[in-house]
Amino acid sequence: KSTRRPLMAGNWKMNLNHLEAIAVVQKLAFSLTEEDAERVEAAVLPPFTDIRSVQTLVEGDKLGVGYGAQDISVHDSGAHTGEISGVFLAKLGCTYVVVGHSERREHNGETDDVVAAKVQAALRHDLVPILCVGEGLAVRQDGRHVEHTLAQLDAALDGLSAEQAARVVIAYEPVWAIGTGEVATPDDAQEMAAAIRARLESLYDGDVAATVRVLYGGSVKSSNITPIMAGEDVDGALVGGASLDPEEFASIVRYYR
Ligand code: PEP
Repeated sequence: KSTRRPLMAGNWKMNLNHLEAIAVVQKLAFSLTEEDAERVEAAVLPPFTDIRSVQTLVEGDKLGVGYGAQDISVHDSGAHTGEISGVFLAKLGCTYVVVGHSERREHNGETDDVVAAKVQAALRHDLVPILCVGEGLAVRQDGRHVEHTLAQLDAALDGLSAEQAARVVIAYEPVWAIGTGEVATPDDAQEMAAAIRARLESLYDGDVAATVRVLYGGSVKSSNITPIMAGEDVDGALVGGASLDPEEFASIVRYYR
């Protein structure tokens, strides 16, 4: 864990227009100290239409806040109305892109194959995919959560080299904890993060397993993040609702204090 820099990434989902985005990122940057920035990486994942505004702020003022997108097309250009190419995201200076969020798997028909193609699209453009995996409630109640989540992981990484896999961030997001206020226990988060890391070691090698950051996501707040981060294999959080409030998100970034 000591070699991996914690990442707190704020998934805004479909919230905050490009003007509201400016206010939130400014407040966030204002709340974070140099020590926070040294110890923890903070990033925001706004809607596509906000990214240019965020880029201008972050570049102009060296705010120390990273940013990225919430989705990416599997294609790079052409007749794909409404899709957003990784070429454009890279040109806008994005570092990250969320891939395979459970809301997209559930409501936009994203299969494991689509998710794998999006991971590859991200890597093709030097974007870091934040690959979301995690089980629903019925699977957890059946005790098949580890098996289910690792199958999603295997499918999404299929065909990647060790060098490519080492660039991926993995977010374990149990679907029953997303937006529900019901957070996984620190032991649940650690159990799955360790299982994911062990799978990376068996799919690749110890270097990949030691390099990849594994985040927890699902109803993270400043009041519950510290014990979750105590897990040896938990390297940060993907934060939805609580990332819309810059003071609250800054408190999450400062979990170590
Ligand atoms: C998410 O959407 O990735 C998420 C974790 O949401 P929330 O924090 O609101 O549960």
